[in-house]
Formats: sequence, C-alpha cells, structure tokens
Amino acid sequence: MAKSQTDLFLDHNRQYARGEALHKPAHPGRQPIRPARRVAVLACMDARLDVEDLLGLQTGDAHVIRNAGGVVTEDALRCLIISHHLLDTNEIILVHHTRCGMLAFTDELLRAGLEGDAAAEKLLSQATQRNFVSCRKCAASPAAFHAFRGAPEALDAAPDGNSRERLAWDVRRGMSAIANHPWIPTHGPDAVTVRGFVYDVDTGKLEEVSYPGAMGSVA
Ligand SMILES: [Zn+2]
Repeated sequence: MAKSQTDLFLDHNRQYARGEALHKPAHPGRQPIRPARRVAVLACMDARLDVEDLLGLQTGDAHVIRNAGGVVTEDALRCLIISHHLLDTNEIILVHHTRCGMLAFTDELLRAGLEGDAAAEKLLSQATQRNFVSCRKCAASPAAFHAFRGAPEALDAAPDGNSRERLAWDVRRGMSAIANHPWIPTHGPDAVTVRGFVYDVDTGKLEEVSYPGAMGSVA
C-alpha cells in the first residue's frame, strides 16, 4: 500500500523532534486553493504547538483547524466537511497534546465559576495559579467547553499514565465523531481516513492513539 501523507508527516515529525524543522516560511504568492497534500489537521490552540513545524507542512499543503483542545466540535465538523467535499482533502489528522489546559477543569466547574460560585472561583484560581474573576452572569452559549473526561489535574502538570489515557479518550471520541458522521465518507471511492495523535510538548514527538479503544469511566 502506498505511503499516506500522514505517514510522511510522521517522518517529518521525527526530524522535527531531532531539531530539524522542515517548515520554511514563504510568501504564498499564487497557489491553488486546494491543499496540495489533501490533508486537514485539527489541533489544539496551545501556544507551544507549531503545527506547520511539527508536521513539516509547507504553505498550501493542508487545512489547519485549531480550537481549545483540538476537539471535534460542531464547528470543527463544519470545517472538515467543507474541507473534504469542496476542497478535496481525504486525510484527517487529530492532534491533542500533553500538558493540555483542557485536562485542568471540568465544564461544570468553569460554568459555575463564571456564574459566580465562590467555591468554583477558588478552585479555578488554585488550578490555574491565576486570580479567577467571575463575571457573575449566566449565559446560554457556549453550551459546552468540552473539557476532557476524568478528574481534573493541575494546569501544566507533568504527563503521566492517567493524563495520557484522558487525552487518548478524547482523541478516540473525536475519531468516532468523524468516522460515524453521515457526511464524512470513510468507505468507497470518496473515502476519508482519520488518524489521531498525542503530541508530547516536552519531546516534540507525536504518538498515535489506537482506535477503537477504551473510552474511560466517569467513576
Ligand atoms: Zn491544549
């Protein structure tokens, strides 16, 4: 079987982790609108992730979609569907990462803090080592923050087995949401592949997440 672009990017990532960044800054000039590598990447917005560098992407190679966590939200799905059906991408790469801020809170805790719950404000201040200032107002949206499943840990805590599992659960949830979406074909002549990874912000390396796999327990 021919090597996929994702496999090529994994080769690039090994070079990146050794300190050899392949991404070259370039004024785009006139380039085709369709991504040359036919790839769409969904990654966390974390400031430590240089997506182009860590995958060795050049200008024009891929769509790069980013949000808090690299979560497959409704808006991410919107982007991926447009990316595939209108702009011809056929490989999707999900990138979560170690030390992600989405490991450090729960949706309920953040909502309670924003609405004015004093205990939640205190917990969020402790977790983030920043004075959390409540807005003391309720809001209907965003309906969800998509914090990762499992007990929150301190912000930027060193990765351990537990946090790696929590990251893998969310990558698998995202892969499932994509692979089972009725508007994203995964079989037939117009098929899209999806693979998920956890990027280690300490080593610069990507580690692939097995799919399907365990989704964890709330207990
Ligand atoms: Zn993150």
